[in-house]
Amino acid sequence: MIRRNKPQALYLHVPFCASVCSYCDFARTVYTKDNTDAWLNAAETELHQKEINPDLKTIYLGGGTPVCLSEEQLERLLTLIDPYRSSVKEYTCEINPEVMTETKVRLLKDHGVNRVSIGFQTHDPALLKKLGRRHTAEDVFETVKLFRKYGIDNISLDLMYSLPGQTMDSLQQSVETAVRMDVTHLSLYSLTIEENSVFGKTGVSNLDEETEADMYEWICQTLPQYGYEQYEISNFAKDGKQSMHNRVYWEYEDFYGISCGASGKEGNVRYDKPRRLKDYLNDPMQREETVLSKEDERFEAVMMNLRLKEGMSRSRFEKRFGLSFEEAFRNKYEPLAAKGWLEIRDDLIRCTSEGYEVLNSVLSELL
Ligand code: SF4
Repeated sequence: MIRRNKPQALYLHVPFCASVCSYCDFARTVYTKDNTDAWLNAAETELHQKEINPDLKTIYLGGGTPVCLSEEQLERLLTLIDPYRSSVKEYTCEINPEVMTETKVRLLKDHGVNRVSIGFQTHDPALLKKLGRRHTAEDVFETVKLFRKYGIDNISLDLMYSLPGQTMDSLQQSVETAVRMDVTHLSLYSLTIEENSVFGKTGVSNLDEETEADMYEWICQTLPQYGYEQYEISNFAKDGKQSMHNRVYWEYEDFYGISCGASGKEGNVRYDKPRRLKDYLNDPMQREETVLSKEDERFEAVMMNLRLKEGMSRSRFEKRFGLSFEEAFRNKYEPLAAKGWLEIRDDLIRCTSEGYEVLNSVLSELL
């Protein structure tokens, strides 16, 4: 039976970038004024035709590069979203430093954006070049300063590790550079070589697994010393400034996915919007739906919640699915607890530190 809820979170995908990074396999295309104007028309149609909950709590503009739009186009996009932001607590926009202008920062501020996530990746100019990034660490510093000037100080930086040719020393310098910017949030992702990326097509490979694991361990040990508490596998926050929007995904709540390349979940229906811009322009309402079974939902809820360091609330799970975690995963919890990978503490079920390091194995045993 199909059950559709009204999400309180909205993700809107802007599928344009000024250029294409070597590791990227996201749904994106190179920016031109004309294709962006056509996309804005389609996004307007989709937003108007979809009955969006007026009581949204989070909005996330991702991509792609939302800020590669011209100032006029960015203003049009932000104005399209204005009707949905009256109750919003966290409104995030992804930022690429090389296309920022002061006017764009002011527009974001004027339209209610109160959090930005800036692509930093690494301090190393040679590595940035290899990644196809067109900015420097200095550009990131300047961008952070500019947002602070306009009062947007809830700032996250994205960093990458396990980059081809990256050394532990280089990673450490990158993290130290990021820490010096004193932002509220850091996300650190290991490079995945996607088949369809430039790296994938040209045979570039990651660092070996052992070095990658050493890097991850160093990150997890070091960031708390600077006040960044790890709250998810790849995410660290200062002063409780966790990403409210991303927590919606990890807590397996519902969210709208708007525009090509986006995915959404409304009740037990998960959907993907077309990846190709052309298909989206032909029919902005088109989407491919998957109706999730109760078992799918239970497993996915556990899979997402266990990414959080605090784990999952058992009472919430029981309320949501009408049976306890122990009943749903009969005979699966005990062997994982015996291995020292999962533990129950009061209402929470969570990975131990050892379990967190082998989360994929924990999940495959639960499945
Ligand atoms: S990584 Fe981000 S900025 Fe680079 S091409 Fe992909 S979507 Fe665009």
